[in-house]
Amino acid sequence: MNDPLAPSGGPPGPDRPVPPAPWPTRGAAGDGGQVAQPERRTAGLADFTLREAHVLDRRGRFGAPVDVAVRAGVIQAIGPGLALDRSAVDVDARGLWLMPGVVDCHAHVTQSTYDPLELMTTPLSGRYLASAGALRAAVHAGVTGLRDAGGADAGLRDALFAGVVPGPRLTVCVVPLSRTGRHGDGALLGPGLESAQEVLGPEYPGRPAHTVTAAGDLPTAVRGVLRAGADWVLIHASGGVLSAPPVRGGSAPDLPFTRAQLTEAVAEAARYRRPVMMHALGDRAVETAAAAGARSIEHGIGLGERAGAAMAARGVTLVPTLSAYLDLAALAGTGVLPGWAVERAEATAAALAETIAVARAAGVSIALGSDARHHSRHGGNLAEITHLRRAGLTPPEALLAATANGARLCGVGDRLGRIETGYVLDAILLDEDPADLELFTRPDAVRGVFVGGRAVLAHPRLPAELVPPGSPVWSAAPAAGARTPAAGQTSHRTSP
Ligand SMILES: [Zn+2]
Repeated sequence: MNDPLAPSGGPPGPDRPVPPAPWPTRGAAGDGGQVAQPERRTAGLADFTLREAHVLDRRGRFGAPVDVAVRAGVIQAIGPGLALDRSAVDVDARGLWLMPGVVDCHAHVTQSTYDPLELMTTPLSGRYLASAGALRAAVHAGVTGLRDAGGADAGLRDALFAGVVPGPRLTVCVVPLSRTGRHGDGALLGPGLESAQEVLGPEYPGRPAHTVTAAGDLPTAVRGVLRAGADWVLIHASGGVLSAPPVRGGSAPDLPFTRAQLTEAVAEAARYRRPVMMHALGDRAVETAAAAGARSIEHGIGLGERAGAAMAARGVTLVPTLSAYLDLAALAGTGVLPGWAVERAEATAAALAETIAVARAAGVSIALGSDARHHSRHGGNLAEITHLRRAGLTPPEALLAATANGARLCGVGDRLGRIETGYVLDAILLDEDPADLELFTRPDAVRGVFVGGRAVLAHPRLPAELVPPGSPVWSAAPAAGARTPAAGQTSHRTSP
């Protein structure tokens, strides 16, 4: 094969979709958390100009209609009345809203149920094929970049890049690192189980260890996930909602790792030029994780002013994953959780707005994370934009959290996450003004998706020459098979 990046097995087609783009690189590989993958191919990429679209600007606001000229997948010019270019296709985008594609900084594409029994009885192959569906649903919903927060391994990322399945740009942490018996240890014990069963991240050949028994073994575990091809290292630096009180003033057990141990793990990852994301809830855990060098805090619910200040001082991003806690609170109302869990779930939901307020007041950068890990939630990732707005961000802040802030966290903020000259066109088209952002709870909110300037979900306005073979065209037909999480299907071991 001449082109090492070309997908094998012939051109894209219905059963061989358009190959997804890697994270585009600029400058030194591996710098600042960016993923060292090669530039995508530009051959065969049609040039076009979107005419008179409302475009999201760097302040997070939609302005008066402008033209956007896209050449070889990169935005070449933006402005009113751009000159006609006969070598490019003109697209009538009047009455459409164009914004950067969403970067979902925390999702689990390999998980599609909360039910431990279903997890235990679904063959691994079934789980991985379901992951392909989750990736496709995410990109068609407008997620053009996705940071998997545990479960997806390097093979899934590389298969995506090879064009085996459609999906967003993907980075992986392979498995989250946990302390034995603490949050993220997916073992289940009980009558009928021959031994501790790993439901969250089942063992398979090549999967690195994810539970650390002696805290001093954390750097070894870090090297294990890096050896397995992780782009990020994820460490569970506190309990979750159902394993430790999430709010300030709670009597949380000792943190699973000390600040010194976490600092050592960050240093180990840094030797391989890989950043660390840390799951942390509660003021003490968030402050410890931020001080230890986490690049992002996952969840962060219950953070206080000290933690907020520590995050802001170090430029640590908060990925609050509100959707997951709202789901948990809804589950608490169904009577399937024990009383203590209901209390914590409700206390956490009540703390979401305050968490956002404290982070916002401290000047902490907030990025979107859906924590999608149920088949009914994959493809609903953008509802998190609505939840961020409802929890206290202004509409421009919520839109920037969903786009530019996530791109910056992922180390690609100078080429993705904005609609600006010189940026790669990862973008979505809406048919209406998102205004108060309630639109994003609707599954049909996004009508067109571009990744690297290529239509992966073709808006009906796009002329045929801009619709690659295998790329679906948006239609009003409702998506089939959507189900909601069933009552009784949760596990405290797998909860956020
Ligand atoms: Zn998660």
